[in-house]
Amino acid sequence: MVQNEIKQLAIVSGKGGTGKTTIAAAFASLAKNKVMVDCDVDAADLHLLLQPQILTQDKYFGGRSPQVDLDQCTRCGLCTEICRFNAIDNGVVDYVSCEGCGFCSHICPVDAIKMEEAFSGDWFVSETIYGPFIHARLGIGEENSGKLVTVVRKKAVEVAKEKNLGLILIDGPPGIGCPVAASLTGVNLVLAITEPTLSGIHDLERILKLAGHFKIPSMVCINKFDINLENSRKIISYCEKDGSKIVGEIPYEPKVVEALVNRKTIMEYTCNGVETIVQQMWKRVEKFLMSC
Ligand code: SF4
Ligand code: SF4
Repeated sequence: MVQNEIKQLAIVSGKGGTGKTTIAAAFASLAKNKVMVDCDVDAADLHLLLQPQILTQDKYFGGRSPQVDLDQCTRCGLCTEICRFNAIDNGVVDYVSCEGCGFCSHICPVDAIKMEEAFSGDWFVSETIYGPFIHARLGIGEENSGKLVTVVRKKAVEVAKEKNLGLILIDGPPGIGCPVAASLTGVNLVLAITEPTLSGIHDLERILKLAGHFKIPSMVCINKFDINLENSRKIISYCEKDGSKIVGEIPYEPKVVEALVNRKTIMEYTCNGVETIVQQMWKRVEKFLMSC
């Protein structure tokens, strides 16, 4: 990898449960000179495999929420009446239901409601045996995860520059929503992990379209390709038309699950040849990244 020129790889999946984090963790053990980022901030789990030692922890304020001065509140009931999310009852806020729209603070006749920055989660800079790792934990029911993804990605670039590391390895969120878009912007390559099911095919098409929209080259790995060979052929044919290269076809292997249960990456475990396939896949991905 060329130093001072930071390349970014986003490992994504249109849906959850395709093995995205398993591959991300395996790449973490194979790639040199990199920073790892877990952008799946709603359900972060890469840390379970990388077992980080936290160096710094910062608070994330992702939105605003109403704070009510109950001494001032006259219990007029106006806020209860106007809140379409049923999130406030005479000045008492249900923060799980509250959407932070701020309407109640505008309407309160005695100005008892102030909108204040809301604590939404934490983000961390950690060290692992594979190198620096930036990750986060969004609070339950908190939103604005796209903004938090931007925070952790920005920190990853800072760390990469500071330590002269040439690669940022992103474990992206599932789906195609705002946090995924925030994970993809500016990356050099998208690696989509899919599986040969109907929902897998549908979601792969959506994620490849999203990558195409951002004009980012994409590659595809079919995980558990042998559980439905017909669907795997459909994926291959779709990718040929789309111009997305298939870089790996991984068979179903119970040892992979065993490795995860033991909190090991598949490169640290004997997985009946899956580790060799993943290694070859990494070489293809690395070759592309070095050439772009
Ligand atoms: S609108 Fe203001 S004064 Fe009325 S109940 Fe709500 S917080 Fe209290
Ligand atoms: S901020 Fe909006 S959603 Fe939250 S309590 Fe006020 S009116 Fe309801």
